[in-house]
Amino acid sequence: MKCSQGQSFKKGELQRFGIIELSPSAGVLNYGQGLFEGLKAQRKQDGKILLFRPEENALRMRMGAERMCMPSPTVEQFVDAVTATVLANKRWIPPPGKGSLYIRPLLIGSGAVLSLVPSPEYTFLIYVSPVGNYFKEGIAPIHLLIDTEVHRAVPGGTGGVKTLGNYASVLKAQTTAQAKGYTDVLYLDCVHKKYLEEVSSCNVFVVKGNVISTPAIKGTILPGITRKSIIDVARSQGFQVEERLVAVDELLDADEVFCTGTAVVVSPVGSITYHGERLSYGNGEVGVVSQQLYSALTRLQMGLTDDKMNWVVELN
Ligand code: PMP
Repeated sequence: MKCSQGQSFKKGELQRFGIIELSPSAGVLNYGQGLFEGLKAQRKQDGKILLFRPEENALRMRMGAERMCMPSPTVEQFVDAVTATVLANKRWIPPPGKGSLYIRPLLIGSGAVLSLVPSPEYTFLIYVSPVGNYFKEGIAPIHLLIDTEVHRAVPGGTGGVKTLGNYASVLKAQTTAQAKGYTDVLYLDCVHKKYLEEVSSCNVFVVKGNVISTPAIKGTILPGITRKSIIDVARSQGFQVEERLVAVDELLDADEVFCTGTAVVVSPVGSITYHGERLSYGNGEVGVVSQQLYSALTRLQMGLTDDKMNWVVELN
């Protein structure tokens, strides 16, 4: 779908995956004027295809579009376009439990600009790719590095929306950490350098007894849909969930730490290295709470439990 600045998107059409043409002076190429989303379609045992809360992705894209001076598809247009793309590619959806079809909606400033102004034209497109499960051999602990020199987002910046530049800012820190054997980087706030923010592409939770704490959403943390869902699931299971400032010191006596995201679902954290010191959780085993929430959410997303919250959308 395409539209001009100040206009609304019209219904789009399906196209074969291929190279798209862009002016060298497109807003997205020069000033990073772009947003993306990520969601998954899964196949249920009975063959039905399931999406998880796609309207939340649509709403997050709309919120981001406002920040990035872009028009955006309506929630209905977004969900219809996701549905049409998934149904056209259903042969690529792995069998139940073997993975999913990753869906990548992209909204870009595709019109030509020279000076720093919003692009005169926008393109909304969706591509898909089959992916295996994040944990190939079952859920297993990940290892994080707190990089005190790099910040993912700054107050007043674009960290709270899913814009391209946020990922440009973490690429080096993440690549360097992975070369040293860590799974990913856990970022701290850049003002006090002592509060947890998030990981390169997932949110973080700290468990102490019956209390599960997660950094409150402010402009520097992406409002994850898995995060929002896990908060509700955990509360429904009797946990007390707190959204607040979480200090890095709280990692010292945490029982468990886990991350949440569309790709990772719920990832138990096995260790966090901070100023060269390694804090370990669970002796290589997955924590009880992480395992419980992982199972609850994956079962829900796979259509294996009663969907009381009406989060799962069946496509056929
Ligand atoms: N934080 C960042 C920076 C991310 O890129 C993602 C992945 N979209 C998340 C958190 C988790 O968000 P969600 O649960 O919506 O996938």
